[in-house]
Amino acid sequence: MRPWLRKGPHEWEHRAALSVDGGVGYNARVMADTPLRRQYLDIKRRFPDVILLFRLGDFYETFDDDARAASAALGITLTSREMGKGKRYPMAGIPHHALDNYLGRLIDAGHKVAICEQTSEPGDGLVERDVVRVVTPGTLVEENLLDGKRNNFLAAVVVEGYSAGLAHLDVSTGEFAAAQLPADGLDLEIGRLAPAELLVRTGDQVSVPSPVNPTESPDRDFEFDDAEDRLKRRFGVATLEAFGCADKPLAVAAAGAVLAYLERTQPSSVASVVSLSTYSTERYMALDPQTRRNLEISQAGRWGGEGQSLLNTIDETRTSMGGRMLRRWVGQPLLDREPLDARLDAVAWFHERPLARERTADLLKSMPDLERLAGRVAAGRAAPRDLAALRRGLEAVPDLAALLAPPEGDEAGSGGIDDLLVRLDPCTDVAEGIAEAVVDDPPAALSDGGVLRSGVDEELDRLREVSTGARSHLAALESKERERTGVKSLKVGYNRVFGYYIEMSRANQAQVPEDYVRRQTLAGAERYVTPELKEYESTILDAQDRIQGVEAALFKGLCERIAARCDAILATAAALGEADVYAGFAAAAARYGYVRPTLTDGDELDVVNGRHPVVERVLPQGGFVPNDTKLSRAGARVVVLTGPNMSGKSTYLRQVALIVLLAQIGCFVPAEAARIGIVDRIFTRVGLQDDLAAGQSTFMVEMVETAQILRNATERSLIILDEIGRGTSTYDGLSIARAVAEYIHNHPALGAKTLFATHYHELTDLAGTLPGIKNFHVAVAEKDGDVAFLHKIVPGAADKSYGVHVATLAGMPQAVVSRARDVLQGLERGGNGQRPRRRRIAPANPDQPALLPPTSEVSERLLDIDVASLTPLEAITKLFELQDTARRESEKGPDG
Ligand code: ATP
Repeated sequence: MRPWLRKGPHEWEHRAALSVDGGVGYNARVMADTPLRRQYLDIKRRFPDVILLFRLGDFYETFDDDARAASAALGITLTSREMGKGKRYPMAGIPHHALDNYLGRLIDAGHKVAICEQTSEPGDGLVERDVVRVVTPGTLVEENLLDGKRNNFLAAVVVEGYSAGLAHLDVSTGEFAAAQLPADGLDLEIGRLAPAELLVRTGDQVSVPSPVNPTESPDRDFEFDDAEDRLKRRFGVATLEAFGCADKPLAVAAAGAVLAYLERTQPSSVASVVSLSTYSTERYMALDPQTRRNLEISQAGRWGGEGQSLLNTIDETRTSMGGRMLRRWVGQPLLDREPLDARLDAVAWFHERPLARERTADLLKSMPDLERLAGRVAAGRAAPRDLAALRRGLEAVPDLAALLAPPEGDEAGSGGIDDLLVRLDPCTDVAEGIAEAVVDDPPAALSDGGVLRSGVDEELDRLREVSTGARSHLAALESKERERTGVKSLKVGYNRVFGYYIEMSRANQAQVPEDYVRRQTLAGAERYVTPELKEYESTILDAQDRIQGVEAALFKGLCERIAARCDAILATAAALGEADVYAGFAAAAARYGYVRPTLTDGDELDVVNGRHPVVERVLPQGGFVPNDTKLSRAGARVVVLTGPNMSGKSTYLRQVALIVLLAQIGCFVPAEAARIGIVDRIFTRVGLQDDLAAGQSTFMVEMVETAQILRNATERSLIILDEIGRGTSTYDGLSIARAVAEYIHNHPALGAKTLFATHYHELTDLAGTLPGIKNFHVAVAEKDGDVAFLHKIVPGAADKSYGVHVATLAGMPQAVVSRARDVLQGLERGGNGQRPRRRRIAPANPDQPALLPPTSEVSERLLDIDVASLTPLEAITKLFELQDTARRESEKGPDG
């Protein structure tokens, strides 16, 4: 429907706009824009880079370029509207009740949206309008646009030399945290948070991992003094010491910038920001993007279908709070034994008590999202049903506490969950406050009325009585009029346009009394009013208006009192989330046979019958073959794993990494037993991938990732290398692979526990010369030409690759397979029909501590190279040059 056909203020306004502008009605002589158009342009000028949704009656309209963009993004019709004599402007609109739906689509299409509402009642002039909110990806609060189990972060980053500040806020839950960290660790932290929106100081060069899109924010938002003042004002404190960031100016600057942006875009949500926590990235294990991707920690892809990530596999949480907490934990493995043991104790508690675990799960199943509810209350966006849900949630907290409390006389207490019990504050005052004021089953909208109980407010009760009294009078009036007219079918009714009326059918027109005034004619009936009916009507409508006003004021006051207790509600929500994660870990452990790992500060990694948590679920039950792992600095620290394609090398490598990761988030692990010396980082380098978007070839990606591992790993790291050197010629690749293995083994600062899967069988020679390198392979059973992969990791090197066999399994044309067999036989026999001698490579000197002496010309030249900007060809050329220099240096000897 086009605007002038619509009912309500919209229609009125169109006419008003024309008459105000021209002063002479529709046939205005003036050529200028209408006041409506001028009002639109005034507002639009303040929001040039966003789509402005301009409220006109029942519609949000967009104009000009915004209309074109909105019509393209939403598939809505682009029309035009006359706004000035002879002037038409492009226009596209959406019905106001469908805003949430369209908003999500505009945001998904990469737009920011300003919502401009009518801020005055329609009267005799132009309705006032103003932007009440700018919706951006990082400031979404609409429940239907958010994923319950995932935070939606608005983040800000500021870099100063080698340091950086990073802050993130989930507007929907009020979770607000900041960190000061080394600038080179920034991309990892941004990658972990995956903010929906990242604010960057204008001009700052920040490398941001995709798909995060930085938004430039003005410098002044990041000014330390202003930022500090803004935060102090927000929290009503004289110093930020209590938030732990008083000595972290960059963290403060970033947090201040987040707040400034929120104040600008969504002032109503600022109230939900009630606290700030400061954290240190050093307390957590950094997981680089390739490791997150390779291990499919929170996003799946490799192992059969959507949704099969580690996170989904172990997620048995029942609440959104638990779901979000688990996602956070999975991205932030811990590095200290003490908090991990505390988590494991709590999981063990639930593991040992199946009944308590099930009851907890049942109870949590119906627990609402207290964090988001508290956020809505604080931001003044809560609906009556939000309060009812909050009450229901809080009332269930004592039941959970009772489940977790130690039985009377149990001296040992609840071990592991004592701390949870202390934090489970049922906020009784809040629950009682809601119970006293709000009816048990309130309507969806405050304007529907009947939200507050009777007895809550005298004025409200009185008005309600008036309204009910008038209604019963109406019922009496109906009977009286029936009697007076003798028409049994006469009825009193109500409609929004004409108000209360008396309806009589056409057939009874002769009985219509004198004092009836005709209001509306229908097909078979006429509707009338009488002075008496008008009187009741105004009593009822007046009372209703006032009831609405009183209810709204009381409801607002109640929400404000609850908002003042937001801190306590959020703390309870966090404890609930934690309980949910522990109970979920225990449930997964019980269902899938996980065990509690023993964590140590040593360097051992000792797993008995470990399994890959995701692959074992994809396979039929019992189909997964478990395998042991035994790595330590004193024993085998580098395992060279060979074996056929498809035999399970990659699965094994990842399984070891995932077991360590699970242990370090406090989860039981898929194994029969596990003793794990806490690792500081897990590094992975897997397969062949290119990063065409970043202008990097397959080989380049491989080399850059390997270089990063060698630079950053320590002796406490776990390194997973699934093929190295495959993206170049065999000799180049083999040389690089071998040099990497030697470097990890020999370098005094390295010696990290390493699993190295390779098809270069030549690398198995290393075990003969370097004491910390051991060979393992995946066993194969060969019988009558048939090959069976046993998926069992056994000591020693593999002798064959079975690549041609796998090609057959893959459905390669028979002609290609038999030709490949011929070629292989020829190669294996060599020119003279003899099996060629394995390419032997001079072993590296095991006593040589590092591959390169730290002050050599080679290391200096190496350090000068900007690896990220090299093409593959340049990289190879450089390698040759470096090799030459190294050779010359080694010929010269240490003294030159
Ligand atoms: P390639 O060298 O070609 O990369 P691979 O040796 O790394 O192969 P994987 O990709 O790890 O082999 O495993 C191939 C398939 O074998 C898996 O998808 C899985 O179905 C099965 N598999 C792997 N490990 C096991 C296991 N321990 N028990 C049972 N099945 C397994």
